[in-house]
Amino acid sequence: MKFSKYPLAPEIKQSLERLGFKKPTDIQYRSISPILRGDDVLAIAQTGTGKTAAFAIPILNNIHNAKEHQRREDGIKCLVMVPTRELAIQITEVFQQIGRNTRVKTFCTFGGVEQDAQIARIQKGIDILVTTPGRMFDLIHQKQLNFRRLDTLVLDEADHMLDLGFIKDIRDVVKLVPRNRQTLFFSATINEEIKTLAYSLVSKPVRIHISPKDPVSKNVNHSVAFVEMDDKRFFLERLVKERENEKILVFVRTQVRAERVMKAMERVGIKALTIHGGKDQKDRMEVMRAYKTGEVKVLIATDVSARGIDIPGVQYVVNYDLPDQPENYVHRVGRTGRGREKGLAVSFCSEQEKETLEIIQSFLHKEIKVMEIEKQDYTATVDFSEDHTNDWKTLMKEQAVYEEEMKELQAKRRKQKLKKKKK
Ligand code: ADP
Ligand code: MG
Repeated sequence: MKFSKYPLAPEIKQSLERLGFKKPTDIQYRSISPILRGDDVLAIAQTGTGKTAAFAIPILNNIHNAKEHQRREDGIKCLVMVPTRELAIQITEVFQQIGRNTRVKTFCTFGGVEQDAQIARIQKGIDILVTTPGRMFDLIHQKQLNFRRLDTLVLDEADHMLDLGFIKDIRDVVKLVPRNRQTLFFSATINEEIKTLAYSLVSKPVRIHISPKDPVSKNVNHSVAFVEMDDKRFFLERLVKERENEKILVFVRTQVRAERVMKAMERVGIKALTIHGGKDQKDRMEVMRAYKTGEVKVLIATDVSARGIDIPGVQYVVNYDLPDQPENYVHRVGRTGRGREKGLAVSFCSEQEKETLEIIQSFLHKEIKVMEIEKQDYTATVDFSEDHTNDWKTLMKEQAVYEEEMKELQAKRRKQKLKKKKK
């Protein structure tokens, strides 16, 4: 059924048409009606299948239709909790695009930037708040947020939000919102433990599970290449140089490695940017802009960008290091092959990472296809490199410098934080 036939407000249909959304995706088809009805929903569907609009469309419609009866001064109607700042911004944009012809106001808050402007906007009145937990709790403690009339609570990347690090936050929020609220959980991955946790927060949710057999998006052709740790940079160099005009997203394990790989690419004439939690929020936003517009084709990221980020046109995901958490394999490779696009992904697996690979494969319930590299080809790739600083002393020194720099940066940040708290 086309969106034009849906029982949705004409204002919303217009913006869906403008976005080029003609027909709902599977997850949208299954979720929109129960959410419109007010049911709780636990929805699992592969990466890039339009989960954001699956909750944004019915939520906007419900608030839009109720607007005569509800005043903005009564507080926020919908709270969407997400794990990262970039995701908060992105989801807010989706709500704003779909709701542009309605009077529903969506706004987002997140840490790492001044809070005064955020507070001013909240005080003017908003209907939907998209937020990361940290800044939200700061604002709650300052009594800037009112959830007493909240209708809907959404946990996007729900399994991650319910995971150990966040569960206490979620339980704290649940205490602040009305009992009869609607709760929605969305993610591409879930496990039994987390499911039980989710059920403990709601009564009888509608369960929607699409393609449960393979959590990796069918649009992603993914494989693993056995490459030694020290040779990984040569393989990345070759891959990037052979795909000059393509957008490539490279995942590494730590912030220090992100900077190191960037420098290694720089040495061989490849311009890349990095994004990770050790960077200023302003820098993070500038990096996202440059990568989205295609100004820079290679982005090196930590798992802070593994989940949810929707950048059209990412053709290749490279797991330079395997992810420590197996579900992040699914999320990382899911940054390509979004919507109707097709994508490629390759993981560089060194001898030391073979155990991690096993864990990932058992999470996926299948083996990842092996990209065979002939011995000659392996040597050719190393020889192909324009990197002439192959001696280990230079490399060791370089690493020590970065690690030192990172430590300094972190110490500086801690000091800044302490200072702020004292104020
Ligand atoms: P998920 O959260 O499932 O990973 P997103 O909500 O980020 O996926 O959506 C992935 C992409 O699909 C986005 O670029 C979005 O604009 C597009 N999209 C979503 N719904 C539709 C639709 N009904 N028709 C066409 N494109 C859509
Ligand atoms: Mg999503």
